[in-house]
Amino acid sequence: MRPYFSGTFGNASSVHSFGRDAKMALEKSREAIAKAIGAQSGEIFFTSGGTESDNFAIRGVAHAARKHGKNHIVTSAAEHHAVLEPCLHAVVPQSGTQACEKLKEDGFDVTILPVDSSGLVAPEQVRDAITDKTCLVSIMHANNEVGTIYPIKEIATVAHPPTADGVVVHTDAVQTLGKIPIDVNELGVDLMTISAHKLYGPKGIGALYIRRGVEIDSLLFGGGQERGRRPGTENVPLAVGFAKAVELAIAEMDVESKRLASLRDKLELKIRESFPQAIINGHPTERLPNIVNISFDNSKIQLEGEMLLMNLDLRGIAVTSGSACTSGSMQPSHVLLAMGRDEKTAKASLRFAFGKSNTEADVDSVVESLHQIVTQMSN
Ligand code: PLP
Repeated sequence: MRPYFSGTFGNASSVHSFGRDAKMALEKSREAIAKAIGAQSGEIFFTSGGTESDNFAIRGVAHAARKHGKNHIVTSAAEHHAVLEPCLHAVVPQSGTQACEKLKEDGFDVTILPVDSSGLVAPEQVRDAITDKTCLVSIMHANNEVGTIYPIKEIATVAHPPTADGVVVHTDAVQTLGKIPIDVNELGVDLMTISAHKLYGPKGIGALYIRRGVEIDSLLFGGGQERGRRPGTENVPLAVGFAKAVELAIAEMDVESKRLASLRDKLELKIRESFPQAIINGHPTERLPNIVNISFDNSKIQLEGEMLLMNLDLRGIAVTSGSACTSGSMQPSHVLLAMGRDEKTAKASLRFAFGKSNTEADVDSVVESLHQIVTQMSN
């Protein structure tokens, strides 16, 4: 990335040679990213990250579909907020219940499918939810909290019956790029969200894959960058960093995913042995190699995820708790609630995500620390 912050600093939209050099780096990056997911480079649109790509996909398709009298979106209760929120704001920028009411007034409808206890949505649920008014199905490729991998290929198949037209399938693949193989044609999706920082790329850049021919309106208006679909001066250093990160992650994926999966399995085994009150969240087989999510069953032990997190942090162990601070109080994870955990159990949850720097010794020290903390907190 470094040369593009200084030496090759031209504006990629300028026609002079400095601009052309920057443009060349941008297009090479686009090509590398496209290749990694089996797309054409003209189908990759750079954005500021996963959140923007999800918003672009959902609001862009909803706006375009209204012209054809379609006004229904299908999604799931376990989606990231970057999908759920724009589904509720597909047509009007309002918040909370106001959004739902305004949405109804505007005649826009969202079906939020329930998930099972492992976080899964079945393709049949999607098929049954689709009506002749449906313009978009948005189901994530893998869940960021519990790691469950969704049957996207089967979901895309039921959403695209040969006899019907007009349902666009979007998947948020922020968690899967570089972790498991992805091919947009194999999956059969029309739109795919990806983000650089989940695979050691720079923060603040992502992309939306838009299959050629998909009707989608822009969220931003301005110059003609990104073929007019996402105007604004292109961020060349970040695009170069994104492409390099993708290249490295794909090259290392087979070996690294196996290594991460063995750390995940070791941690799960040790947690099962050491904490009979712990529930392992997520699908037993269809799951990401790097995520372990556990809840302490509130009927057996009373713990707060936030306190566990802070105590682990004091020992240099970085985890997430799954709860979010909204209006000054801790809210349990919407994903764990959707999977059927009760509120108190959901609040006593931790997500461990393994990465490049983790080793087997880390698993031992995490379990040992957690054991000491849980003993301390339950006394
Ligand atoms: N979607 C998923 C599944 C995520 O995990 C994240 C980030 O955590 C996002 C979207 C948002 O991506 P970004 O942080 O690049 O905006």
